[in-house]
Amino acid sequence: MIRIIIAGAAGRMGRRLVANIAESEDLALAGATERAGSEFLGLDAGSVASVRPLGVRITENFEELLDGADAVIDFSTGRVIENARLAAAKGLSIVIGTTALTADDRNELRRLGDSGAKIVFASNFSVGVNLLFYLTKLAAQTLGDDFDVEIIEAHHNQKKDAPSGTAVSLAEVVTGVRGWDYDRDVRHGRVGNVGARTRREIGMHAVRGGDIVGDHTVLFAANGERLELTHRASSRDTFAKGALRAVRFLADAKAGLYDMRDVLGLK
Ligand code: NAD
Repeated sequence: MIRIIIAGAAGRMGRRLVANIAESEDLALAGATERAGSEFLGLDAGSVASVRPLGVRITENFEELLDGADAVIDFSTGRVIENARLAAAKGLSIVIGTTALTADDRNELRRLGDSGAKIVFASNFSVGVNLLFYLTKLAAQTLGDDFDVEIIEAHHNQKKDAPSGTAVSLAEVVTGVRGWDYDRDVRHGRVGNVGARTRREIGMHAVRGGDIVGDHTVLFAANGERLELTHRASSRDTFAKGALRAVRFLADAKAGLYDMRDVLGLK
């Protein structure tokens, strides 16, 4: 059994992590935290996650949980780096999904990894999306420059930014293979009499509507054939399951800072 602390257990991701741990056979919930003042403090984390009572009460005191745990998963919007330092000092594995980390935060994670901690950080824990990055690179390398590349992403109608970070990363995979430049060669949408498509551009298109969790398609089109690589996320469980996979990976890994491509053996 791997005993896991979930930081931010009442958040959207925290609840799905608790629920997925409850359903697994090799993982156990060892602790759950929330921010000071949260209405969920003192409640059973399993009940908050709408599974079943798991006998783990949500606390604001992260440090008191460390001695009874093997790993921490942090998708909280709280003290991610401070938590990582405390967990590293006690030898716990650390999985971080919070996306708002600064460059300094990332450097600190690398330093912790270099000094003996086992850490996975990824801005997208979906196994499918990480495989899509890999397949996009393989397709770009194999098909060569004759194929026009267009990227189409779709998200719910509340998403504020466009294109998505994942779509940007997909375009960067292609610009990396072709030796192109993202700012110069990515073309966002087309309107009016823009003329024929040039050879040296990647079209980027953002669709917004309803409750779409996140779709990404990379289209490779040439004369006579086209290849479309599509990933569709339909629930946050895809990220939770990826994070649990990262915890299992760290159980047998050497110290260091890893990402999801390491976890999936895609490097
Ligand atoms: P959310 O707001 O629903 O959840 C965050 C939770 O953290 C809240 O319940 C909040 O009260 C709690 N929190 C804040 N301070 C805390 C503290 N000091 N201690 C403990 N808990 C604290 O947000 P969400 O949708 O679950 O997303 C959380 C983060 O995960 C965001 O940064 C989001 O971008 C990221 N995310 C990453 C991935 C990925 O694949 N890497 C996927 C989805 C979301």
